[in-house]
Amino acid sequence: MVQKAYKIRLYPTPDQQVLLARTFGCMRWFWNQMLTMHISRYVNNPKAKFINTFGMNNLLKRLKEEYPWLKDVDSSAFQCVSRDLNDAYQRFFKGQNERPKFKKRKYAQSYRTKSGSIKIIDDHHIQLPILKQVYFRAGRLPQGRIINATVRINSAGQYYASVLVESENQALPKTGKQVGGDLGLKALLNLSDGYKEPIHHYEDKLASKLHYWERRAARRRREAKKAIAWDEHNKVPVPRQLSDFKNYQKARVMVAKYKQKIKNQREDQLHKLTTTMVRNYDVIVLEKLNVKAMMKNHKLARAIGNASWAKLVTMLLYKCEWYDKQLIQIAPYYTSQLCAHCGKNNHRLGLNKSEWLSVREWDCPSCGTHLDRDVNAAQNILARGLA
Ligand SMILES: [Zn+2]
Repeated sequence: MVQKAYKIRLYPTPDQQVLLARTFGCMRWFWNQMLTMHISRYVNNPKAKFINTFGMNNLLKRLKEEYPWLKDVDSSAFQCVSRDLNDAYQRFFKGQNERPKFKKRKYAQSYRTKSGSIKIIDDHHIQLPILKQVYFRAGRLPQGRIINATVRINSAGQYYASVLVESENQALPKTGKQVGGDLGLKALLNLSDGYKEPIHHYEDKLASKLHYWERRAARRRREAKKAIAWDEHNKVPVPRQLSDFKNYQKARVMVAKYKQKIKNQREDQLHKLTTTMVRNYDVIVLEKLNVKAMMKNHKLARAIGNASWAKLVTMLLYKCEWYDKQLIQIAPYYTSQLCAHCGKNNHRLGLNKSEWLSVREWDCPSCGTHLDRDVNAAQNILARGLA
C-alpha cells in the first residue's frame, strides 16, 4: 500500500466560503485554547502529567457545551488539531522542535479533516463534512481510499485541498532501461542518453506584471501606514487598519496570484518530467544533493532555486516508490572530469576550477572521444550508480 497526496483547486460557493472561514477560525481558536491550557498547567505544576490527544478530545466535549458555536463546524477537524498539537509537543519533548507556538490570524489558513464521509462524487465534485458538495478542478482525480483532506486558502484568496489517499502499489511495466542524470544550471537535467530538460524562466515571462503589482502594493502600503483616523470616543488620532484599504488589498492579492502562477508552472514541468522518467526507466541514478551548501552560495542560490533540484529529487523519490522503480543517489565526486568512454580521469585538462566550469565540450586526451560535458557527467553518474 502506498499513500499519495493529490492537490485539487476548490471553488466554494459564497455560503461555503463563510463556513470555511468559520472552520479556519475555530481550529485556530481550539489550538490556542489547548496551548494555553498546556502552558498554564506547566506553570502551575511542572510535574503535571501531559494531556495527550485523547485527553484534549475529552476537553473538547466540555468546550462544546460552553461554546455551542463549536458544534457548527467539522468535528473531525478538531481531532486533527489535538493530534497535531500532541505531535508538536512530543517532538518538543524529544528536543526535535521548538515549543509549539500560538497561531495568529494570517491570510493563509488551513484545516485538516479525516471524516469517513469525504468522497469524490464525480470529476468536479468532492463531498466534505459540513460543506457537502464542493466544486473542484484537478489535473488527476484522487484514486484510492481517502485518509484525510487538508483544506487551505492561500494569500491570493484561492482555495486548495490536498487529498491524501491510500492505494495499491501501482507498478509500471518494466522497460529494462537505466538512466543517469546530471542536475545542472545550463539545463535543469542532462540525461545519459543525451536528452536535456531546459530551465524555463517562468518568472521572467511574468516579471513585468509581478513587478507592476509589487510596486503598487508597496506604495499603497506606505500610504496606508501614514493614514490617520480620528477616534471619536477617546478623542485621539489612531492609525487606520490595513484591511480598510481596498486598493492595497487588491494589489496584495495580485502579487500573491502571480507568485502562485509561477509556482504552479514550475511544478507542472517537474511533474511531467519525473512522470516521463519513471515510465521510461527502471533505474534512475542522480548525484546526492547538498542543498544547504548550495544555498550558501549566494550567486548560485537564485539559479538553483529556479532550477528546483530539491523538488525534482523529492518527486522522483516518491514516484519511484509508487511505481516500483528505483532511484539511486551517488556521491558527487569527479563525475564531470572522468571520460565515460575510457574511464580515464582527465584532471580538468589541467585547467583551474572556474576555467573548467566554462568548458561545455571536450575531447578526451586518452581515447579521443568528443564529449558533451553534461551528458558525459550523466553517463559517469549512471555507471557509478550501477557499480
Ligand atoms: Zn576517453
